[in-house]
Amino acid sequence: MNYFSPDYFTARSRWIAAAERYGGRIESYEITAAVPVKEQNLTIDVAIFGNANASKALVISSGLHGAEGLFGSAVQLATIDRYLATDRLPSDLAIVTIHTLNPFGCAWHRRWNEDNIDLNRNFLLTDEVYAGAPSAYSSLDGFLNPRSAPSRLEPFLLKSLGAIGRYGMSALKSTLPVGQYEFPQGLFFGGKAASQTQKILATHFRSWLGAAQQVIHLDLHSGLGKWGTYQLFAELTSDSPRYQWLAERFGDLLTLDAEDRVYQPRGTLGRWCQAEFADRRYDFILAEFGTYSMLRVLKALRAENRAHWWGSPADRSNDWAKEELLEVFVPQSQQWREIVLDRGVKLCWAGINALQS
Ligand SMILES: [Zn+2]
Repeated sequence: MNYFSPDYFTARSRWIAAAERYGGRIESYEITAAVPVKEQNLTIDVAIFGNANASKALVISSGLHGAEGLFGSAVQLATIDRYLATDRLPSDLAIVTIHTLNPFGCAWHRRWNEDNIDLNRNFLLTDEVYAGAPSAYSSLDGFLNPRSAPSRLEPFLLKSLGAIGRYGMSALKSTLPVGQYEFPQGLFFGGKAASQTQKILATHFRSWLGAAQQVIHLDLHSGLGKWGTYQLFAELTSDSPRYQWLAERFGDLLTLDAEDRVYQPRGTLGRWCQAEFADRRYDFILAEFGTYSMLRVLKALRAENRAHWWGSPADRSNDWAKEELLEVFVPQSQQWREIVLDRGVKLCWAGINALQS
């Protein structure tokens, strides 16, 4: 069975059908934003499987970064379909699946949401302010965010080598993904306030978890790392006892922790969840599945963002930018899809096993 869907609406209807088939309790939350298909709407959908009073819960979320949702959705669908077709959930365990946290980005083939927000930079804690940017960002703004439609003929590689020469690769790596709160049309914008997605989670997430006192949350992403492989990022330092516990259960896969990262992003979902649910044992793991090189991914993000702000829908380069964005986050390659699906499903099952240990 092919678990990958070509677009958000197909993914959502397949997901809801599967949730109904296996007795999942479904809740849908609408996002107010432009919709690419008439008479349709955009929703974050939650399906909860298993005992509502379970003391343990595995949360599997997808699509925080829009287009990546078509990958995460496939893993969620296959995990539920393959597991529940043969096994029953242990009575003390629930699976909470959150389908496409950024439905706007998924539907429009963007990484960002309806307000151009990178949702994994929007989850600031209550004492933090939506302001600031890494100092190098304003110098890079011209390179990253040209005020013109994208062009396939642009010598992107030369330009990026120029920027690397001027600012250094490590400056680029430590500047770009950190998040910025000052350039609303720019890449990696964290927003000026809590997003619709954050508000929905703040209001309802607690009820999805029910009675669970121990939670493992796997948040599925793609686009960073080597082709077909994955890395797990926990919001912990390697000397923490929780880190040791997780490392034993997820094997060598828990490769990096907060201290070892080349950059420390602000406003991540993981840190927010762990703060929000500090009253229980809550382990958040971000799983990143690799696709193409960082430069190709950056090129695609930059082109799509230009198309979004400055392109016209009739322009062929608009279509190219959208197609390329989808390709760098959810490659068409059958080989890639088989590998990541297999690994993604095993990762989710490892989460189920960890909670039973
Ligand atoms: Zn992502």
